[in-house]
Parts: sequence; structure tokens; C-alpha cells
Amino acid sequence: MIDTHCHFDMMPEPERYIKEAEERGDIIIGMTNLPSHFRMGMGHVQGFKHIRLALGMHPQLVTPDTIREMTLFKELVDETSYIGEIGLDFSRAFRPNRDMQIDCLRQILAILKGKSKIISVHSCRAEKELLELLTEYETRNVIFHWYSGPLTLIDQILEKGYYFSINEAMCLSKNGSKIIQAVPKDRILLESDAPFNDRCSLKNVRARVGLEEKQLIANFKQLISRLRIPEQ
Ligand SMILES: [Zn+2]
Repeated sequence: MIDTHCHFDMMPEPERYIKEAEERGDIIIGMTNLPSHFRMGMGHVQGFKHIRLALGMHPQLVTPDTIREMTLFKELVDETSYIGEIGLDFSRAFRPNRDMQIDCLRQILAILKGKSKIISVHSCRAEKELLELLTEYETRNVIFHWYSGPLTLIDQILEKGYYFSINEAMCLSKNGSKIIQAVPKDRILLESDAPFNDRCSLKNVRARVGLEEKQLIANFKQLISRLRIPEQ
């Protein structure tokens, strides 16, 4: 199994969780919500073969103090090939920080420009704005995590070569099912978003969507093979 969006650093026993996953041969891309979390966690995953840690700056955590975290982001960016969770969140609670979030994301995308990374993005009620920024900065290798935006935007996201990581909760919702149907099978990856998601079984998603493990592995391989292609 390949979990492309998991927050194991927020679990009560992260080391046990990743050790068990490693023993099963599972691959996990662990998100972090702040660069300081990444710095704390990176030493703990270094001995693992299949567990990766992504450098993130969660849009819900953007505050005027983020400037300090962004200094750290710049310092740490070359420590990993994985970036996340980053993005935009314009849902009611976070909308007041909209301009700050955009400013922070612009800084991140500018730092990432010309670097070869796999990037997991959060796009709550801000899908169009996010896609515009990714386009402006010519960001590549993006995975839209738990997409819940308009169906009409999916084709544009696909045209960019981007992927969608889907979870069990999406399969169980009407809107989520429509989104999953609109994405071709070769652009689907799985995610748990654990521990923030009670419906996080990868096995159940695979069964519900009728995806074969072989296909999912091929999709992931296709995406990470781009890490080896130098940027223009
Ligand atoms: Zn997440």
C-alpha cells in the first residue's frame, strides 16, 4: 500500500506506526504542518526505507509569525524530495487570513521553482486560486489531496499533469464519489490523512473504487520517476 498523505507525526506513537508500515513494505509520505515539525521529525525517519517525510507549511497555520517558519523552510528545502502540506484554505474560519496565506504560498512556490519535488496540496474552497498560483509558478508534480472543489476544474488540473489523492471519506460522500469518477484511474493515488480522518482505510478505498494495487503502484512510480528528470 502507498499512503501519499498521512500525518504520522501527529499520532500518539509515530515510531510504532511507521515501523509496522515499514515491516509490511508499505510506503508512506508523511506530511508536516510546519517546517519546525519537519526539523524535529527528519531524524526519526532517516533509518526507514519506505517512509518519507515532507516539508510543509499548512495554510491553516499561517500567522504573522510565519516569517520565522519560512526562514526554516528555505533552509530545509533541500533535505527532502517531498513537500506538504502546503496550499490555501478559504473556508470560513481561515478566510480572514486569505492574503497572508497567498503571500506565504507565493514565497513557497518561488523557493520551489526549478527544484524537483513531489508536492501535496490542500485546497479548501480555494481550488481555483491555488491552480492559478501553481500555473503562474510553473509548479510540477502536484498531488491534490482530498479535493472537494468544483468538478469543472478537474480537467484543468489533469491537463497540468497533476494527480489526486483520494481517501475513504471521499468514497463515502456523494460529492467525493463524483470527483473520483471524474479522475482517470492513472491519475489516482491513495491517502489516509490519518489521524485527522476516521475513514482512512486504504484497503476500503481500493475496494470501493475498484482499483488494483498494481495500477496504484504504477501511478506512484510514474510520478516519482519525474524526480529524476532535471527541470528546464
Ligand atoms: Zn492533511
